[in-house]
Amino acid sequence: MTTLEIRNARALDGKPVEVRVEHGKIAAIGPSLPASQASGAQVGDGAPAHDAVRRIDARGALLMPGLVEAHTHLDKTTWGMPWYVNECGSRLIDRIDNERAWRAASGHDAGAASLALGRAFLAAGTTRLRTHVDIDTEAGLRHLEGVLATRETLRDTLDMQIVAFPQSGVLDRAGTVEWLDASLARGADVLGWLDPCAIDRDPRASLDAMFALADKHGCPVDIHLHEPGEMGVFSFELMLERILALGMQGKVVVSHAFCLGELDAARADALLARLADAGVALVTTAPPSRIVPPLMACRRAGVPLAGGNDGIRDTWTPYGSPDMLERAMMIGLRYNLRRDDELDIALDCVTHQGARTCWFEDYGLHVGARADLVLVDALNAAQAIVTRAPRRWVVANGHVVVSEGVAV
Ligand SMILES: [Zn+2]
Repeated sequence: MTTLEIRNARALDGKPVEVRVEHGKIAAIGPSLPASQASGAQVGDGAPAHDAVRRIDARGALLMPGLVEAHTHLDKTTWGMPWYVNECGSRLIDRIDNERAWRAASGHDAGAASLALGRAFLAAGTTRLRTHVDIDTEAGLRHLEGVLATRETLRDTLDMQIVAFPQSGVLDRAGTVEWLDASLARGADVLGWLDPCAIDRDPRASLDAMFALADKHGCPVDIHLHEPGEMGVFSFELMLERILALGMQGKVVVSHAFCLGELDAARADALLARLADAGVALVTTAPPSRIVPPLMACRRAGVPLAGGNDGIRDTWTPYGSPDMLERAMMIGLRYNLRRDDELDIALDCVTHQGARTCWFEDYGLHVGARADLVLVDALNAAQAIVTRAPRRWVVANGHVVVSEGVAV
């Protein structure tokens, strides 16, 4: 058995903390661990021998739980590839069509792309990640197969959920439901969906198809809802009806949900209360260019709101980063979080709220949790976020994947 001990760290509240990891889980955590019984081998001595204890002297570094990416698209990225020159139109449908054309012309390798970006996420301290993967009548399961291979390659360290996502819409493209069905049978964990009004143009039929497929597979759903204003609220209403009718409480995530940011406070609070009752969680990218769901109202209502990049350097956007501390900074900027204790909320969006939203189990800094740990040189969460402090050590599922700032 390999044991890992981290000594001389500081918790987010500033107090001393030490952690003992056994079998990939946190076996002990507290202000100070008792002296280890086993023979020790310091980090840097090479791989620890059987029954050895690997010790990290954190030298006062700040300990955070593993970061959580609640919404990205690993399969689409051009991360690590030549720069993609974006000359796309500005409408949603322009971007969908542009991507389909690029995908057909470029011979994009979703397996290689997702592996490169998945490794970059790990090196930056993300240990849990939900990725949407394009499923449509042209790509079929090609992107899914690539991302499944990446999940297998990184399975000892990165806990990855795969969403089967119909990027091109469903109702207008015959055969898409069947491809989604096959994706869920093949290994996707979650059913994705897209704007039932704006893209599918028949919200009742669209959502009935979504919930029927989720019901068939007993899987959760995660829908991209870009629809603005009353159109988006109408889609929420139809979803709530179906969640309650089908007993899907706690199994629905709505990503983006821009429309919630357009409502006056009373209407937003009323809708959020209904979402809380239905166990609906939200994901935001905190985009500077769009209205966003009201963060504090969500927290008051008990609606989880997690942070995610969405696409990273793909045909949709040149932006994004596998550094979730950067996403936390975007959240801080978008929601005008300035006090240090307010930035704790931004960190919460890319840690605990992400785990809660995506149903990642055994998450956090407590005995029995999966040992996902990040150590940085910073006084507190606010400084870690604003400086995007380099990751000194990252432990993923008990494995040291970054040591003294170097990915190993
Ligand atoms: Zn997305």
